[in-house]
Amino acid sequence: MLKSTIEKVCFKEFEFYVKRDDLLGEINGNKARKLAFYFSQNYSKNQRFISYGGVQSNALGSLSIFCLKKNIKFIFICKKIPSYLKENPCGNYALALKNKVEFLEVNNTSLKEYALSLCCKDDIFIEQGIANLNAEQGYKELADEIKKQSINLNLEFDIFLPSGTGTSAAFLARHSKFKVFTCACVGDEDYLKKQILELIQDYDFKNLQILQKNQKYHFGKPYKEIHQLYKELKQECFIEFDLLYDMIGLSVALKRKWEKPLLYIHQGGILGNASMLQRYAFKGFK
Ligand SMILES: *Cc1c(COP(=O)(O)O)cnc(C)c1O
Repeated sequence: MLKSTIEKVCFKEFEFYVKRDDLLGEINGNKARKLAFYFSQNYSKNQRFISYGGVQSNALGSLSIFCLKKNIKFIFICKKIPSYLKENPCGNYALALKNKVEFLEVNNTSLKEYALSLCCKDDIFIEQGIANLNAEQGYKELADEIKKQSINLNLEFDIFLPSGTGTSAAFLARHSKFKVFTCACVGDEDYLKKQILELIQDYDFKNLQILQKNQKYHFGKPYKEIHQLYKELKQECFIEFDLLYDMIGLSVALKRKWEKPLLYIHQGGILGNASMLQRYAFKGFK
């Protein structure tokens, strides 16, 4: 069973709590929670996992560790990999190569459809970002863990975690006794809602509130103020947060007036910072 600590931090005189899921181990953050179900299963000798998406995604890195540990063949469908990256692998892509992932680059066709077309009877297909219903198990466990820790700390929380597909926030909100808040880091609020409803048709949003962002951000694009916030948090809180999701999430969460003490879920993904930091350095931000 996974378990992480809750740490009290202070940033610019605002006190809040951080659930250190980034310290869960080799596979950490929300991808570790999402994979809890798969860890509880047994696999036969010839098992294959097939997934698709970005070659720098945390889902790819985490699945590559999982499959190596479980002796599962892992096939990953992606767009054409830039030659610069092939010659200079870094971040999650480098990890996946080390872990013997078989990459299939495809052009001009839907990655998902291609991945599905490869699946034979016993293959396990994993949706992009591990956004599937099996993720729920890990979030039941996380909600339970937070409940126990809140009793020990004698605190009631408001919980915040930033969303990509919304899978993590949706399942945590479904099982937590505390109110859960999120924001959309990929696309806008309507798109996030749509993605959650695609995953869970009858999803009840009563315990999940989607907060508006202060401004529009394009996913994966470098922004000076995001880099600034990243550096300040690292210096003042001694915690490295992820550049793609946490910086948008924290810029929303730190501006809000919270009714209860804020528990911010650190969802890992630090390995993914390597390629983003390269891009920032290239733009002259150090
Ligand atoms: C994958 C990921 C997310 C997005 O999670 P969803 O469940 O898709 O909303 C957020 N933060 C980090 C660090 C991630 O790796």
